[in-house]
Amino acid sequence: MMKICLVRSAFILTIFALAKVSGCKDSFMKATLVRPTGRKIKKNCTWVASRPSTRCTFKHATDFCPETCSDFEPDCESDVRARFKIPFIGWRRCIWVSRQPILRCAIKGISNLCRATCGSLPTSAPTMCSTDALCGADVATTYGPLECDPSGLELMLLDQYSHSDDGETTDVMVRLYGPAEVTQAAALVIVAPHGGDLEPTYMTTRTTDDEVYCPEDDDCVVSSDSYTKEIATKIANSVIENYCKVPYLVINELHRSKMDANRERPEATFDDPEAINAWQNFHDFIQDAQNAIQSQFGTIVNEDDIEGIIGILFDVHGYAGYDWDDSDGGKFIQWGYRLSKETLDQDPSTGHCPVDSDLADSSTRGSFTHARALPDQSLECQVRGPQSLGQRMNELLPMTSDAMCGASLPSFDYQDPKAISSNALYCGDDDGTCHYYSGGFDLEVHERHDWESISGIHMNTVQAELPRCLRWATDESRDTVHDEVANNLSIVLCSFLRDLFGADANTC
Ligand SMILES: [Zn+2]
Repeated sequence: MMKICLVRSAFILTIFALAKVSGCKDSFMKATLVRPTGRKIKKNCTWVASRPSTRCTFKHATDFCPETCSDFEPDCESDVRARFKIPFIGWRRCIWVSRQPILRCAIKGISNLCRATCGSLPTSAPTMCSTDALCGADVATTYGPLECDPSGLELMLLDQYSHSDDGETTDVMVRLYGPAEVTQAAALVIVAPHGGDLEPTYMTTRTTDDEVYCPEDDDCVVSSDSYTKEIATKIANSVIENYCKVPYLVINELHRSKMDANRERPEATFDDPEAINAWQNFHDFIQDAQNAIQSQFGTIVNEDDIEGIIGILFDVHGYAGYDWDDSDGGKFIQWGYRLSKETLDQDPSTGHCPVDSDLADSSTRGSFTHARALPDQSLECQVRGPQSLGQRMNELLPMTSDAMCGASLPSFDYQDPKAISSNALYCGDDDGTCHYYSGGFDLEVHERHDWESISGIHMNTVQAELPRCLRWATDESRDTVHDEVANNLSIVLCSFLRDLFGADANTC
């Protein structure tokens, strides 16, 4: 397997100079091959490679697996005639690609199969760019649930901020949960800033177009990210169930029309004194959690001499995405690293490709400012390589009856948010450009320990915008889908943490 990856990488590096050679590599998809008896079988090149002398003689095998079957004179210039299975789209032939070649040749792996169709395009560019060469194509290891006994472990309420207006009713506005003892902790802070539903009448109601507090071009948002509080809590409980460690969890109980915890203070609070208190406590609670994780897991100095806390902050959101493919929005989980879709744009015609080289001069752009320079790590691979959070989630699909619901962007399968969000296959907006959410205030300030001055020790942050198809699902399936999402995210976050900091760090 490793040898194949190296060969593929070499092809990727020469792909721009030698366009015709680009089609001469094994496909990662399944294809319909035909045995000498005439029987059709659906297999991939790994299967062919295990007995090439026989299987390369099956119809379509040679052209589908030209590296494996290099002794059988593969045709590297024509379209493959077999049907092949495109992840999340289904079984197609090159004739389907030829109907919308500009869009469809951009789907990962297609230009390698529909060589004539895609090779005749003026910019017959693969979307894989150099991520493949940098990070390889091997699936990441999954650190699966442990055989451990979680009894006795639970999310404890460690702190809260509440307000009592008339001495009778008490409104709890912000809550911090975590382990009873710090030795039980997981190196993970889960944050839900937009899932609250508390709307005290004594607080100012935020509006979308307030002239003082809402920036001119960017109106304030006052609608909540439904079910993100519930899902964030389930993720925390899944970590306990699966790994017998207790993460920290910070919940904003206030509805977004009262306080938006993921904005700078004026826009967040409209200068309402109670909203300011809640906002301050929300962020202080996150810092408290980071302090606890630092005391338990320590820090590590990376190759850029940046000291970072061993752990991750995960900020949970949801997007309506009215501009995506239908009224329910897109199906992607949008991962945010404070890298815009322009920064993530893979445009080989301009040579704009790897995140790493683009960010070489800057230590402040994007999140993962600490993780990116740990030994043998790369921001490009962390964001959309096979070991990225997004790709790890893809490996656990499906999560609902719709296989596409919850596919991750960016990920190894879907590397380029700009291409995806202007691809008619996914984006149904009239002007052909859907919105990609790259992360906000929480990530910006909590990437550093001293959040108020954005300084001090680093801690890696990432956000996920969950699609409506996962958050709402259906009335009947909602609870089950939330369980599935939370379970998968706990596995993905813990596997990522373990690969990043090593098994000895005992992060999860
Ligand atoms: Zn949100």
